[in-house]
Amino acid sequence: MQIVDHFGRKINYLRLSVTDRCNLRCDYCMPEKGVTKLQHRDVLTYEQLCTLAEQSVALGIEKIRITGGEPLVRKGIIPFLETLAKIPGLKQLVLTTNGVLLKQMAGALKQAGVQRLNISLDSLKPDIFKKITRRGDLSKVLDGISAAEAVGFPIKLNMVVMRGINDDEIFDFAKLTLDKPVAVRFIEYMPVIKSRDWQKLVVPGDQVLNQLAQRFPFAPIVKGEACGPAREYKIKGAAGSVGVITPLSGHFCGDCNRIRITCEGMMRTCLFSDHEVDLKPVLTTGHDSDVQDLMRSVIKSKPACHGMTETTSSHNPFTMAQIGG
Ligand code: SAM
Ligand code: SF4
Repeated sequence: MQIVDHFGRKINYLRLSVTDRCNLRCDYCMPEKGVTKLQHRDVLTYEQLCTLAEQSVALGIEKIRITGGEPLVRKGIIPFLETLAKIPGLKQLVLTTNGVLLKQMAGALKQAGVQRLNISLDSLKPDIFKKITRRGDLSKVLDGISAAEAVGFPIKLNMVVMRGINDDEIFDFAKLTLDKPVAVRFIEYMPVIKSRDWQKLVVPGDQVLNQLAQRFPFAPIVKGEACGPAREYKIKGAAGSVGVITPLSGHFCGDCNRIRITCEGMMRTCLFSDHEVDLKPVLTTGHDSDVQDLMRSVIKSKPACHGMTETTSSHNPFTMAQIGG
């Protein structure tokens, strides 16, 4: 089964959020005063999330990324992942985490059938890490990364680059790829909550690459189909890779293959479109085929492009933790 939207894009990737809760409060993800937490009754049950995953796979989804909030803070996440991993036809089950709980959970995640982890890490300096996350302890994340490595997960680190905050650490992150097969992705800051003067924080991906080129010789990696939006490179002689993800300066909407479902059951076909469709009513009262029919029609309405640049955006502000990144 395959599903293609109105613009001929094959949709095969679902980002499924399992919670809006988080054990960090990253400055770029949540507003200063925090956000109102969803009531338990408003969050989809694991059974409902499984139905959505199964119906998505029946429609043509091949890869599911579990996200949040912080997915590892939801109780019962491991048995849920075990169930997802057994869905026939699902080719990739992957998860994005801030790494805080990985030390305790890496082994169980591996055993449950999670194939890959993306770990978000924006600074290697304890004080800057604490400032960005408003409460985080860097050593816990570093221990978590070691635990994930030890159980055999390939390590991918996502760093949101912010001018004047952590852009002086680009070399340090790149150096992590020299001796170990670590993948580092530098991501452009996106103005989701639209803090004042957000434009000043954006470091376009090309500037990151120019900086790297001053210190390291590197060459592009030729990628296969469906390898995601990163432009990837290998520093000469390095074991790992570096890459840039440029949602603003070089948007990849033409190749976008993804849909998102929030933990409340709201389906979004574009992170920056305010259009959402509530799947909960049909999940509660309908048959599986109704869920599938509704999802199919929402996919058909996926917009061509988000229309955002390094200096302009027109969406209503939102909290990334509510949608899942
Ligand atoms: N809590 C998990 C984590 O941090 O990895 C998963 C959810 S988090 C919302 C998913 C991703 O969104 C993280 O990699 C985070 O860095 C990214 N993100 C959140 N706000 C962002 C922003 N304003 N610009 C760019 N990336 C952002
Ligand atoms: Fe939590 Fe992830 Fe948002 Fe940071 S980016 S506040 S870790 S959900």
